[in-house]
Amino acid sequence: MELTVQDSIYWIKFANERIQSEKEYLTSLDQAIGDSDHGINMARGFQQSVNKISDGSYVHVSDVFKDVAMTMMSKVGGASGPLYGTAFLRLSSAVKEKNPLDHKVFVEGLEDALNGIKQRGKANKGEKTMVDVWEPVVTLLNKNNEVTAEEIVNTAKEAMEHTKKLVATKGRASYFKEKSIGHIDPGSASSFYLFESLAKVWKSGGQA
Ligand code: ADP
Ligand code: MG
Repeated sequence: MELTVQDSIYWIKFANERIQSEKEYLTSLDQAIGDSDHGINMARGFQQSVNKISDGSYVHVSDVFKDVAMTMMSKVGGASGPLYGTAFLRLSSAVKEKNPLDHKVFVEGLEDALNGIKQRGKANKGEKTMVDVWEPVVTLLNKNNEVTAEEIVNTAKEAMEHTKKLVATKGRASYFKEKSIGHIDPGSASSFYLFESLAKVWKSGGQA
């Protein structure tokens, strides 16, 4: 998998389409174990990101990610804005001045992004946060470069569903303690849409 400037723009556009159509669902997930704003936060962050990157003419993929990062940080309140912002900023730094991104560079960038989320949120796998989707996907991508779009979607989906079984120990959901069991983590759901959208770009073999 190689990622061009155009692919990176399509990735964020596809993610935005998915987030917009699942806005109410994301809100309902956050209603159960949070403050009902995750759908609104993500819908705003991704729409504004698309608006921003649609205007630009980019030479480097890193600049697309940097604009997404800045938009997430400045336009999205709540925990998720800074967390997604950190992820895209780390990804941007890791792939600086490279275009297109080969599989290895891109996956290293995603790994940096994951580490950024973990540091910023002081979260590890198993705490019922977006880390629970990011980590298994990065692990899968690290294994080899023959990963199929289907494998990415399945891994991300299973990981998202697994968060139902977990007790939240980070973020607002942690106030619900054991009562958080039985609910999907909202940030894991938005992260699933993000990776599902990446798989869509992946599937098109760079011809998105
Ligand atoms: P807020 O929790 O401030 O209302 P959102 O509702 O937009 O923000 O986002 C909530 C999501 O953010 C959670 O479902 C979880 O995935 C993620 N999250 C919250 N706190 C952390 C953290 N400390 N580390 C990692 N992810 C977190
Ligand atoms: Mg919330």
